[in-house]
Amino acid sequence: MSHQTDVVIVGAGPCGLFQIFELGLLGLKAHIVDALPKLGGQCTELYPDKPIYDIPAIPVCDAQELVDRLMEQIKPFGATFHLDQQVTAVQRQEDGSFRVATSAGTEILAKAVVIAGGVGSFQPMLLKVDGVDAHIDRQVFYRVKDPAAHHGKRLCVLGGGDSAFDWTVALAERAAELTLIHRSSTFRAAPATVAKMEALVAAGKMKFTVGNVVGFDADGAHITQAHVRDPQDHITKLPIDHVLVFFGLSPKLGPIAEWGLTLDKNQIETDTEKFETNVPGIYAIGDIATYPGKKKLILSGFHEAALAAFAIKARVEPGKKVHLQYTTTSPIMHQRLGLK
Ligand SMILES: Cc1cc2nc3c(=O)[nH]c(=O)nc-3n(C[C@H](O)[C@H](O)[C@H](O)COP(=O)(O)OP(=O)(O)OC[C@H]3O[C@@H](n4cnc5c(N)ncnc54)[C@H](O)[C@@H]3O)c2cc1C
Repeated sequence: MSHQTDVVIVGAGPCGLFQIFELGLLGLKAHIVDALPKLGGQCTELYPDKPIYDIPAIPVCDAQELVDRLMEQIKPFGATFHLDQQVTAVQRQEDGSFRVATSAGTEILAKAVVIAGGVGSFQPMLLKVDGVDAHIDRQVFYRVKDPAAHHGKRLCVLGGGDSAFDWTVALAERAAELTLIHRSSTFRAAPATVAKMEALVAAGKMKFTVGNVVGFDADGAHITQAHVRDPQDHITKLPIDHVLVFFGLSPKLGPIAEWGLTLDKNQIETDTEKFETNVPGIYAIGDIATYPGKKKLILSGFHEAALAAFAIKARVEPGKKVHLQYTTTSPIMHQRLGLK
């Protein structure tokens, strides 16, 4: 599907979300893309329940609350969200605009691009068993896209974090059989979900095993059994239909490295006036941006978003002066904010 807008933002972490606000105040429309199916970047993926103490004027809020508040703040600007898809290409056109393409086949034409890609796209940590790749999305899954596809199946869920436990609890009573396997009986999942899992085990609705999956038996192209090695190195064979792997996510810079931008390790070099990269019209803010003195803090990303927005406004409306206006008193900003 093809879209047209003023600005494409790559990455919906806290800084990408605040970029929508700063652009919106200046009357610019944005589309935002994230590789994850949910918003909030590191805040929601890595530490949703942890308190943050250094957001100005908010003495404390947990990371999920910060993202919820940002979503509330940007609501008036009607940004378009494209989630669960990675930006794979950013191509500069002859007229200085950009064509942005995603892994889901979305194409967006824009006058400027802001990269707020943090530490990169979060990708699932893989199950390291020979030959497993041939079964991905057929019998081995790193994400549950369609829960019903696992109903009535013999399931083996791998992992000890929230995703493994949430899906275990959600699927245990709908699967033909379900075995949760984790390398130890210490879990990272929320205690309430661990308690639910233990209750399901006590009720005979699922099993829990300490161990690792180290191999499979296959009948032609079809996996029939998983080899589970316990801490004493004994291997048992578990008949299975589907394996759901939740070993966590790790960030990878990914395609951003191929867009012709000047990088310093895994960050993009910018100036400190506009947060523009070496490619005119492509800006970088938040954790992915680097310049002398850069600090990877949400606060810094918010400042960068404000200055990038002013620079983008000047770029897309050349010849017009961009006035600094206060949200307190500016009628045009009140109108953009949807205030009476
Ligand atoms: C445990 C922990 C505690 C922290 N506590 C604090 C704190 O107290 N105060 C503070 O200021 N900071 C804190 N931080 C740091 C803070 O979370 C980061 O500075 C902030 O998340 C950076 O925001 P961002 O929007 O730049 O990037 P991120 O939050 O990393 O989001 C980037 C997003 O871009 C997406 N993305 C990347 N590449 C692509 C692509 N090609 N296509 C589509 N999407 C892509 C990713 O999927 C991700 O969702 C903490 C970090 C951690 C890990």
